[in-house]
Amino acid sequence: MLRYILLDVDDTILDFRKSQDEAIKYMLDYFGVFVDESMPEVYHECNAKCWRAYERGEISQAEIFPLRFKLLFDHYGIDTVPYMDAEHIYHPKLDTLAYPRDGAMDFLREISARYQIYIITNGAMKTQDMRLSSSGIDQIVDGIYISERVGYSKPNIKFFQTVKDSIDGFEENEAVVIGDSLTSDIRGGNNAGIRTIWYNPKGVENTTDVRPDYIVSTYQEIMDILPNL
Ligand SMILES: [Mg+2]
Repeated sequence: MLRYILLDVDDTILDFRKSQDEAIKYMLDYFGVFVDESMPEVYHECNAKCWRAYERGEISQAEIFPLRFKLLFDHYGIDTVPYMDAEHIYHPKLDTLAYPRDGAMDFLREISARYQIYIITNGAMKTQDMRLSSSGIDQIVDGIYISERVGYSKPNIKFFQTVKDSIDGFEENEAVVIGDSLTSDIRGGNNAGIRTIWYNPKGVENTTDVRPDYIVSTYQEIMDILPNL
């Protein structure tokens, strides 16, 4: 019987893209840099590339922050803004922005009445702590695991081992991982021997070798599956 839900937060519960787009525009405005409307998508790709390298263990979390702006500025030929200056304007702004997806908070409250909910998130401690608290998520869930604090990131087995070891009575067969990322959430669940639900609201094609147990596009579908686990 299902008791524990390990739940991703960004783009599963919170609309990370909305926060990110707003913070990046704020930073470019701050430095008086003008770029065309392709920028949010280009930045998203640069950032995602860095996080994937981090998930594969190729770079440290600290290296992500200058590198993503190097990639962005190289793309547009911007050479007037030092990468870490961009980071120092962008990141504190991002810390203040947390937008729940439509229906996400109701979903979270409903599942938290029946199961123990643990947030599992790759990110900077300060950013995620602030966003989880300003959205009220920290008041609803039973625990929060942020990669920077854990010392390992999803999908590393050591991240999940830390989670398992710190939850009283945890059993893999009484747990499920829910998240939007095949490479961090679902691969992580596979690595840890925990069942997975891939939250895929945009209907993205799975081009990886990762195999989710369930694929859903709405919170309702998740709620329909949970009682059968
Ligand atoms: Mg996510």
